[in-house]
Amino acid sequence: MSNVLVYGEHAHGKIPKATSVALTAGKQLAALSGGQTILAVLGSGIGEVAQLAAGLGADKVVTIDGPAVEHAVADIMVEALKAAADATGSDTVVFAATTQGKDIAPRLAAALDASIASDITNVNDDGTLERPMWAGNVMATVELTADKKVVSVRTTAFDAAEPGGEAPVEALSGDVAAPDKAATFVGLEEITSDRPVLTEADRVVSGGRGVKSAENFKDVIEPLCDVLGAALGATRAVVDAGFVPNDLQVGQTGKVVAPTLYIAAGISGAIQHLAGMKDSKVICAINKDPEAPIFSVADYGLVADLFQAVPELTEKIKGIG
Ligand SMILES: Cc1cc2nc3c(=O)[nH]c(=O)nc-3n(C[C@H](O)[C@H](O)[C@H](O)COP(=O)(O)OP(=O)(O)OC[C@H]3O[C@@H](n4cnc5c(N)ncnc54)[C@H](O)[C@@H]3O)c2cc1C
Repeated sequence: MSNVLVYGEHAHGKIPKATSVALTAGKQLAALSGGQTILAVLGSGIGEVAQLAAGLGADKVVTIDGPAVEHAVADIMVEALKAAADATGSDTVVFAATTQGKDIAPRLAAALDASIASDITNVNDDGTLERPMWAGNVMATVELTADKKVVSVRTTAFDAAEPGGEAPVEALSGDVAAPDKAATFVGLEEITSDRPVLTEADRVVSGGRGVKSAENFKDVIEPLCDVLGAALGATRAVVDAGFVPNDLQVGQTGKVVAPTLYIAAGISGAIQHLAGMKDSKVICAINKDPEAPIFSVADYGLVADLFQAVPELTEKIKGIG
C-alpha cells in the first residue's frame, strides 16, 4: 500500500481548478495502490488555503508553512516535497501539468530517482498511464517501473474532484533548506486581466498571424472576447512577434485548453497549435484561405476576411444582449 501525494498549487489565497483535476488523477492512482490521497499545500501564511484544501475531497492535507517556500522556487519546492512524500509514505507524487507543475515535476523525479510520466490523459485499470506524444499525433501507454513515481496531469483530460468532506490538516516542518546552487527568488511580474483565465475559461477567442498587429488584437479580437466573456488566446507566431504576452500562447509549447467554444481567427492550424485546442467542444474558424488546415478540425468554418467578419460577429452578439 502506498499513498499518493498531490501538489496543491494555489495563488492569492485561491486554489485553481487544476489542483482539483490533479486530485482526481491522484485518487485514481491511490485507488489502485490501496493508499490514501494526500494534498500538499506549501507556502507562507497558508492557514486559510489549507482550510480550503481540506474541503476538496482528499483524505488528508499536509502543509509546509514557512518563508523558504513562500515563492514556488522549484529547487526549494523539490526539497519540501521530498520531505512531504517521505513523511506521508507516498511513493507517487502528482502535479497538474501547469507552468508550475512542469517546472517542479521533472526536478522532483530526478531528485527521487523516480520514473515520470508527464501530461497524462488517462489512468488505466492496470496502472498504466496514457499520454500524448508528437503534438498529440500518437497516444502512448506507459508503465512507470521505478519504486517512486512522478506524474503530471493534463488539466483538460480529467474532471475536477468532487469537493466535500473535511480532511484532517497536518502541519509538517517549514524548515526547508535550499540546496546548493538553488535559484533564488528575485521578483514576480504578474499579468493581471479582468478576462477569465485561459486554461479555465469556458470560451476562448484566439488570434493568429492574420490579425497582423498588437493594435488589431485590441481593436478587433478583444471586443469579441469581451462580448462573449471569453479568454484571449494566440498562436506562437503572434507571441513571437510580440503582439500579445507569451502566457496567452495556445499549443504544444503553450497552454492546453478545451473550452466549450474556441474561436480561431486568422490561424492556419499548424499541428503544434491544434495540439493545444483540438479537444475544445465547438471550434469555429475564420480564415480567408479555404485550404487552411484549421478547417479540418473546425465544427463551423467561415472563409472570410477576419477584419470584416469579427467586428460583424461582435456586433451581432451584442445585439443578442
Ligand atoms: C517545436 C515547435 C513548437 C511549436 N509550438 C507552438 C504552439 O505551442 N502554439 C502555436 O500556435 N504554434 C506553435 N508552433 C508554431 C507553429 O508551427 C506555427 O508556425 C504557428 O502556429 C502559426 O501561427 P499562425 O496560424 O498564427 O500563423 P500562420 O501559419 O502564418 O497563419 C496565418 C493564417 O491567417 C490567415 N489570414 C491572413 N490574413 C487573414 C485575414 N485578413 N482574414 C482571415 N484570415 C487571414 C492566413 O490564411 C493563414 O492561414 C510551434 C512550432 C514548433 C516547431
